[in-house]
Amino acid sequence: MPVFLATTDPAFEEGFVTLMNAKREDSPDVDATVAAIINDVRNRGDAAVIELTARFDRLDLTQDSLRFTPEEIAKAVAQVSAEDRAALELAAERIRAYHVRQMPDDAQWCDPEGATLGWRWSPVSAAGLYVPGGLASYPSSVLMNAIPAKVAGVARLAIVVPTPDGLVNPLVLAAAEIAGVDEIYRIGGAQAIAALAYGTETIAPVDKITGPGNAFVAAAKRRVFGKVGIDMIAGPSEILVIADSDNDPDWIALDLLSQAEHDESAQSLLITDDAGFGQAVAAAVDVRLETLERAAIAGASWRDFGAVITVRDMDEAADLSNRIAPEHLELCVADPEALAEKTIHAGAIFLGPWTPEAIGDYVGGPNHVLPTARSARFSSGLSVMDFLKRTTLARMTPDALRAIGPAAERLAQSESLEAHGLSVRARLDKLNR
Ligand code: NAD
Repeated sequence: MPVFLATTDPAFEEGFVTLMNAKREDSPDVDATVAAIINDVRNRGDAAVIELTARFDRLDLTQDSLRFTPEEIAKAVAQVSAEDRAALELAAERIRAYHVRQMPDDAQWCDPEGATLGWRWSPVSAAGLYVPGGLASYPSSVLMNAIPAKVAGVARLAIVVPTPDGLVNPLVLAAAEIAGVDEIYRIGGAQAIAALAYGTETIAPVDKITGPGNAFVAAAKRRVFGKVGIDMIAGPSEILVIADSDNDPDWIALDLLSQAEHDESAQSLLITDDAGFGQAVAAAVDVRLETLERAAIAGASWRDFGAVITVRDMDEAADLSNRIAPEHLELCVADPEALAEKTIHAGAIFLGPWTPEAIGDYVGGPNHVLPTARSARFSSGLSVMDFLKRTTLARMTPDALRAIGPAAERLAQSESLEAHGLSVRARLDKLNR
């Protein structure tokens, strides 16, 4: 049974805090294993990657077969049906069009002292994308990670995907091809992250690694951070639906289940201003769970972490939503735009009854790689910005240096950094001669 809470109940706060603090993720301590794997790959390169792939993925590789050949990719892609390919292409087109608009502008101006100042954006040179290949593989995630990288102008994009027993989802390769990925390697786990970060004889190192994965992959990303950039460490999926009674309970039930079916640790929450409607949605969830293919996973998530919260009004709903800071937020209310102005902590907002969250997972355009576990309070979903860096620019004229140089000299003296101050003074002396 999911939790039923009402803000009118004196015990509400206690129940809400318990819900928020529920530990949803088992994070096994894999750090020692991962540290050893990374060291091994750093020391022995391809030989270590090949051995670890044989051990964990039951696949015998050689240096020549680490990377998919163009022929292997073409053969796999040929297995993809025309309908699947068309859907992938539509998704890719829409994701590209959305992310093109995110490209930030460079800036340059001359200030009153005559200094020319500004900044310039430039892409990382090479990015690596981890595609989980064990329990589930998501071609949509390939598009969501690879397309922003390409839009940002990343020159080299490499994918790593484990292929347990040699098996790979052809749609993953098709998505990679559509997104313009340059290299695809059949490796996974911490060894793949290490290979991307440090390079091996056959895999050149990258500058940034993105993409989800299991506990070994997450621990490896944490460890290589600093040597390379990483996107985020994403936890289990979440959805919060805020709905008034003017909705079909079955639609809302399906939206809740669409995240619950990801993972037993996923969390689906409903906030409504009508207790009867909340009951109707919960009943609709039960009906759908009788036939849903992934009922075991979705049912466990709903039972253990689901909740129906009744509020007095939508202002109260917005306050709770901000405390939850959900990854996905659906607003199925009469005036979703007005409510969206008040819900300021959310990874992605879906406005109105015609925008099921699943549209955002595939074809809406915005990215589906989003902050979880309340991190939407301080971070954002994947974007072109993750593949760009900003370089600042400054050019002094003699007049500008004369105007602001003495203050720099003074501050350098106060920090006892003599050469700093002298580098300014030498120029000022020349100007004053
Ligand atoms: P995975 O590709 O993340 O991990 C498989 C690799 O784990 C193997 O190749 C192996 O190298 C390594 N491994 C397994 N057991 C090991 C051991 N005992 N010691 C050392 N290494 C070991 O695939 P997975 O396991 O199926 O996990 C996929 C994960 O990605 C899940 O947690 C899933 O929830 C997550 N996921 C998230 C999203 C998202 O968008 N957030 C999308 C898809 C999947």
